[in-house]
Amino acid sequence: MDESDRVASDAARVYAASPTEGAANHRHPDNPSENPSGNASGNASGNLSPRLSAHPSGNLSPRLSAHPSGNFSPNPPTRDAVLSGMRPTGALHLGHYHGALVNWVALQDRYRSFFFVADWHALTTHYASPEVIRNNVREMVIDWLAAGIDPERSVIFVQSQLPQHAELHLLLSMCTPLGWLERVPSYKDQQANLSDKDLTTYGFLGYPLLQAADILVYQAAWVPVGEDQVPHVELTREVARRFNHLYGRETDLDTRITGLLSSINANLGQELRTGRQAWLEGGDHEALRLAQQRIGQLPCDPANRQRLLGWLAGGGRQILREPQALLTEASRLPGVDGRKMSKSYGNAIAMRDDPAQVETRIRRMPTDPARVRRTDPGDPERCPVWELHKVYCPASVRSWVQEGCRAAAIGCMDCKRPLIDAVLDEQQRFRHRAEPYLRDPEAVDAMLRKGCETAAEVAEQTMVEVRSSMGLMARL
Ligand code: SF4
Repeated sequence: MDESDRVASDAARVYAASPTEGAANHRHPDNPSENPSGNASGNASGNLSPRLSAHPSGNLSPRLSAHPSGNFSPNPPTRDAVLSGMRPTGALHLGHYHGALVNWVALQDRYRSFFFVADWHALTTHYASPEVIRNNVREMVIDWLAAGIDPERSVIFVQSQLPQHAELHLLLSMCTPLGWLERVPSYKDQQANLSDKDLTTYGFLGYPLLQAADILVYQAAWVPVGEDQVPHVELTREVARRFNHLYGRETDLDTRITGLLSSINANLGQELRTGRQAWLEGGDHEALRLAQQRIGQLPCDPANRQRLLGWLAGGGRQILREPQALLTEASRLPGVDGRKMSKSYGNAIAMRDDPAQVETRIRRMPTDPARVRRTDPGDPERCPVWELHKVYCPASVRSWVQEGCRAAAIGCMDCKRPLIDAVLDEQQRFRHRAEPYLRDPEAVDAMLRKGCETAAEVAEQTMVEVRSSMGLMARL
């Protein structure tokens, strides 16, 4: 793959899922009653979204519990926060939609969702071409809205509008060992892969720490990522742990905890002590989680809540929450040439492409090479069109394809017809949702302004605690 294009193809991936292999196992957001796999209950593991699962370091269902070392935010929101972002370096295509945005749409019903345009991250690789960023921020946000991201249910904002991200990045850089950043696997990998760009920059080395700041400033509990991004979440956890260790220590913590516990209901106090003991002595994650939950419900001020949470986990005050990775599957959605869909290959179908072009390009897609003539039987497993069927078509159509292809009872053009219809149908919904924003670009800016304001409120709460714990003056 052309290396610079690899950046572009990965444009949508700061924390976002890789475009995933088919949606055969997920419930389509545009048609919640229909799971293309015909499996209405999702996967056997019973995860919330069959395409999302907690990292092995955590528990199976992100809804049921946080990672044992997790803690609640200073002012716990009613729901755990999830955060994801994309770099604005190009139009989003169907691989981005089925790989990341489908998951985002599902997440916004279950978590307090923060989705942001990672324009500072885009500069780490596109610092010499700011026009790429300038031209793509609003277009990408419109693609999100077209996909079904709902600004009433999700906080949508632009990273560079929130100075708190940069401030936390700077402050974390004071106490993050250099070796931690040099060891992040993607640092050397990307430098090697993107050899046409000079990435020996301070910004590129530090971008995983900027990611950590993005996550920690919202006290996010979950970060949807592909397997290759798990080390970044691990780094974030280490950074938070080190920060809490350095700045959460208080010499009078024991006295304060004794006072706090004596000020609450005696039974609850005992419950917390028992939970702590079960966690510290027996590693009982569930006991820890329940105790954290109880502390989260206490009507106490943020600093005391942090003290109690820190004491519970066996440490000092926990100022920054350690997030967990919410794994997403890797994508193998094929492009129109049969290779993985990627802008860099020129084989991508953009989310809002022209319908006539989409139809032509799918009609020209390669098929099973063994089907030279209409009368030759084929094998869908050797055909990229089948991979798209698995994502787009219901079970009845997929059976028809399987039988018809193998028996040479249908031609490839017959086979592609329901697929073309399904893709065009989906794109029609994208266009329908995007249309009001395309007609009124100010509405996009107004929505982003509102998202930035909401995000700033949450981020500022964290920063007040961070500044104070590091001995910095409060705002004058
Ligand atoms: S009939 Fe369908 S699955 Fe079979 S080779 Fe043709 S396009 Fe592919």
